[in-house]
Amino acid sequence: LCLSPKSLRHSHIFPEFFYDRTYGDDGRFVAIRRDPTIKPRPFQKGLREYLLCSDCETAIGRCESYSSSLLRKLDAGVAENGYILHSSFDYTLFKLFAVSLIWRASVARNGFFAAARLGPFKERARMMLLSGDPGPPHQLGFALARVGQSAIAQTVVSGPFSFKWRGQRAYHFVARGYRWVYLVSGIAEQFTAHFPFIGATTELRVPILNESDSDFLDWMKKALPWHGR
Ligand SMILES: [Zn+2]
Repeated sequence: LCLSPKSLRHSHIFPEFFYDRTYGDDGRFVAIRRDPTIKPRPFQKGLREYLLCSDCETAIGRCESYSSSLLRKLDAGVAENGYILHSSFDYTLFKLFAVSLIWRASVARNGFFAAARLGPFKERARMMLLSGDPGPPHQLGFALARVGQSAIAQTVVSGPFSFKWRGQRAYHFVARGYRWVYLVSGIAEQFTAHFPFIGATTELRVPILNESDSDFLDWMKKALPWHGR
């Protein structure tokens, strides 16, 4: 991350807590990947690569532990009118955590993360993480939605998928029962009224998607192109 010539640690690409619910009794988990040439197989202890020096890992770890506890609070949150409201949250820590996810995916070599190609935004993400400055909500902005009913969705960690949203590059993955959606666009500011960027409001407002298991599996089939062929 900092590009300094220090030794890199065998870091998690997605944090360990994303996989909490995916481990079976034997401590292995099955991840969903989009490369049809590689058979899905159980991985152990999440996916790791040599990504971060110990200083950078510590800095990201701070965002990670905050976000882990924030998500637990959201899990326990009571839905009102289809939303979970959380009255205050630390935008800097949560945004940097989200940026670290897409950045880690973009630099990872594992095919599971291959779709995350951030182009010039890769360097912007790196600078954000290095400076600790999350920028405005629309810059490398993200939105979060809870997958409400599907029990399967609670245990799946998907790799990022790339798609177009209003002609702009967007990425999306499912982890820990939430859909994480990123708008990666130089003109993202134009969409501040239309895209529910986290940080645009001081309270956290997370919509609940009423997806059943079969809805969720339908989505998986569409998102994973080899699936339905
Ligand atoms: Zn570093």
